[in-house]
Amino acid sequence: MSKQTLSFQAEVAQLLHLVTHSLYSNKEIFLRELVSNASDACDKLRFEAINNAALYEDAPNLEVRVTFDKDAKTLTITDNGIGMSQQEAIDHLGTIAKSGTKDFMSKLSGDQKADSQLIGQFGVGFYSGFIVSDKITVESRRAGLKAEEGVRWVSAGAGDFEVDTITRAQRGTSVILHLREDALEYANTWKLKSVIGKYSDHISLPILMEKEEWKDGELIDPKDENGGRQPGAMVKTGEWEAVNKGNAIWARAKKDVTAEEYNEFYKQISHDYEPPLAHSHNRVEGSTEYTQLLYIPSKAPMDLYNRDKARGVKLYVKRVFIMDDAEALLPSYLRFIKGVVDSADLPLNVSRELLQESRDVRAIREGNTKRVLSVLENLAQHDSHSTATEGDVTDVVSEEDKAKEGKYSKFYAEFGAVLKEGLGEDFSNKDRIAKLLRFASSTTDSVSVSFADYKARMKEGQEAIYYITAETLAAAKNSPQLEVFKKKGIEVLLMTDRVDEWALNYLHDFDGTPLQSVAKGAVDLGKLQDEAEKKAAEEAAEAFKPVLAKLKEALKDKADDVRVTTRLVDSPACLVVQDHGMSTQLARLLKQAGQSAPDVKPILEVNAEHALVKKLGGSVHFHDLAHILFDQALLAEGGLPEDPAAYVKRVNALLV
Ligand code: ADP
Ligand code: MG
Repeated sequence: MSKQTLSFQAEVAQLLHLVTHSLYSNKEIFLRELVSNASDACDKLRFEAINNAALYEDAPNLEVRVTFDKDAKTLTITDNGIGMSQQEAIDHLGTIAKSGTKDFMSKLSGDQKADSQLIGQFGVGFYSGFIVSDKITVESRRAGLKAEEGVRWVSAGAGDFEVDTITRAQRGTSVILHLREDALEYANTWKLKSVIGKYSDHISLPILMEKEEWKDGELIDPKDENGGRQPGAMVKTGEWEAVNKGNAIWARAKKDVTAEEYNEFYKQISHDYEPPLAHSHNRVEGSTEYTQLLYIPSKAPMDLYNRDKARGVKLYVKRVFIMDDAEALLPSYLRFIKGVVDSADLPLNVSRELLQESRDVRAIREGNTKRVLSVLENLAQHDSHSTATEGDVTDVVSEEDKAKEGKYSKFYAEFGAVLKEGLGEDFSNKDRIAKLLRFASSTTDSVSVSFADYKARMKEGQEAIYYITAETLAAAKNSPQLEVFKKKGIEVLLMTDRVDEWALNYLHDFDGTPLQSVAKGAVDLGKLQDEAEKKAAEEAAEAFKPVLAKLKEALKDKADDVRVTTRLVDSPACLVVQDHGMSTQLARLLKQAGQSAPDVKPILEVNAEHALVKKLGGSVHFHDLAHILFDQALLAEGGLPEDPAAYVKRVNALLV
């Protein structure tokens, strides 16, 4: 074959024009694309050599070399991978065969602005070299062909390209970029190292660059672009060094990675100084193939509660870095997880928008979610190992399990409140999340009671899981609404996270047992209340009817209703809301946060057995007492009377 000039396929010419005109603001990606092609070429050689070891010729060590020549203004990326034959160079570099790019071309509108937005979403691959070059020379020889069967491909990125036969001893490909004047920054070791570090650190193949030295023999400071000196005084040393870390630990077999290495990698990606609580590393096979390495940090970040905050999972495609904080890879309630997902199926230039729509990504997200939940389940299971086996010396606890002790409560203290968001966010895993929740209770101070623990301790005849929400543990514990439950020895879960009430809207029962707020609706202790008690309560209510009517009238602006209750023992009154109403506590929180909350009027429940309430009917201070009763009930649950001054005045009048 002698030198010939060929035209690009029409779409390629169009694509080239777009690439050079629209990807201008993100120049550096060309290096990622070319290094990734070099790495692909090495993978292909490795694959073909499985059946034909001769393809390795006498260079079995696969590698990529990046060199530049400041004077000639060239940057060269050389690999000793599979290479291209002459026909392959014509086909692969002159036409678009990839379905993704074809797809992209078919969507082009001709409107440059709209098109340039589109282009970021599709792989532009090899042609991205033209972002920084006005001419590209490719020299290649396919592995297995003779040295005389090499090819040189040259193009200025306009309408056509030239191909010629060359002699090339070395197998593989050199892509020589003739840098544009405004891209000369890439003829610089420091710049190249930093871009390679950013995108290609985890390519397992060594990416080599020639070491440089100052003329007087002093090494340059790699952190300082010019080593604090004038450029141009550096000389190449002839020594090569790998500039990528090449440590894609997630691509290694689990058994080959030490605990220290896992921790070290966590620190690298999380910028967290403390080691993680746990990690999970898996290669997932099936219709979507990917590797996940996920970490549970031991400390919550300051901005944990910011749901818009960036997530901590990085996305790689075949070990090439694609993006940080890929929010599509985990639901929001697991936003504290750090780690890496490496997909074998996604295109290199996948955009955030595209991620949201991809079926593969959805599968990865589900897989990640399930994985995190099972790690948590495992920690939860071993959390109380030491107490569970106390006094049972024959029970041998493995070292591994022992290491997990106490971790779940540590995790829960940091991230429990965020996990609860999952009840509302992740319907398909609601039951698993519910099992992972822990609460304090009227009989246990530490936040350690699971719904399952609670159920196991339920009284004979008890039909619901009782809970109360309040702003603080003390307010919850001393709430008047708990009185009858305490008297009867019924445990009540105390919920003091802000998210609790919202989250519990999504959880109506646990394992078939309904959840019941003790501050909502009428107390129905069902079978827990004996007949005699019920009868006595009904009689008291009957006798109290005339006073109730007067109370309702006096408080008609404050209370939706006034009724006699059985839930109180020591307190004269308390406030409750309708069965499905928003609690006064949540309404208060919303208002504090500047959000609109429905103006719910609570129900005042009075204890007809209480001395104060008994006196009420015949008192000359009826009106004042009625208001004091209401305002005190509000105070008892952490609220404030609407008119605090009026309240103080009334109490003082009585005191006097
Ligand atoms: P992609 O890598 O997604 O296939 P590119 O535009 O990056 O798309 O590359 C187009 C094709 O050119 C590749 O599929 C490959 O066949 C060929 N190619 C590019 N670079 C190399 C290389 N360094 N060695 C061998 N073939 C290459
Ligand atoms: Mg490519």
